[in-house]
Amino acid sequence: MLVDSHCHLDFPALSQRVSEIVAAMTRNGVGCAVCIGVTLEDLPRVIALAEHWPQILATVGVHPDAEGGREPSCEDIVKLVQHPRVIAIGETGLDYYWHKDMPEWQRERFRNHIRAARVAGKPLVIHMREAADDTLRLLVEERASDVGGIMHCFTEGWSIARQALDLGFHLSLSGIVTFKNASGVRDVAQRVPLDRLLVETDSPYLAPVPFRGKTNQPAYVRYVAEEIARLRGVPSEEVVAATSENFFRLFPDARSKVAP
Ligand SMILES: [Zn+2]
Repeated sequence: MLVDSHCHLDFPALSQRVSEIVAAMTRNGVGCAVCIGVTLEDLPRVIALAEHWPQILATVGVHPDAEGGREPSCEDIVKLVQHPRVIAIGETGLDYYWHKDMPEWQRERFRNHIRAARVAGKPLVIHMREAADDTLRLLVEERASDVGGIMHCFTEGWSIARQALDLGFHLSLSGIVTFKNASGVRDVAQRVPLDRLLVETDSPYLAPVPFRGKTNQPAYVRYVAEEIARLRGVPSEEVVAATSENFFRLFPDARSKVAP
């Protein structure tokens, strides 16, 4: 069974055809997809999906790029993450690509999420874009290694990968690993210890080859796992089994929540 560790099924590109998408997951051996919260306003729809579909789990968080919505306190997040279908806190982190002024509010929000994760004892889902040094610094300062989590859609090189692994985090690779020009990610795919690797789609974005440029969906996580296996020179079953085992080790209570 495969697990898509990161998707956005509540986004307009996917939300109108979830039953078709879940059927495609089943046909492709994808037994679980984690639908990621990005704002408090959208959270009820994310949780409704996870309540309706046994294959779908949810996370709670406010994305570093989200502006204009309600800002959650640490206590708010701790409360929301108690929902039985919610397994993690995020996505959270830093994004200096869309916010080149590197705003302090982004770092404050990130710190709140890490503090909530430590209080609740839940792993984090980290978004990090052109902000690796500050992201790692805050993870250290706020002692995020107490809970660990996922560096989602990891696109940095090996030295940042090494530091994230040393903090106890898992690396989740997306369809970018199938892009021939993504040499940094393809290098990381070969070097990351197999017991710290996860796979994701980040759908509806980042469809892997052979669907590059189209709307992505959790079923396509198969192509991510298959490409990683090719790069590592191992049977794809090995990557499928390892990434799912890693997921359920990181989220021990997820196994009983997901339909067999
Ligand atoms: Zn995301």
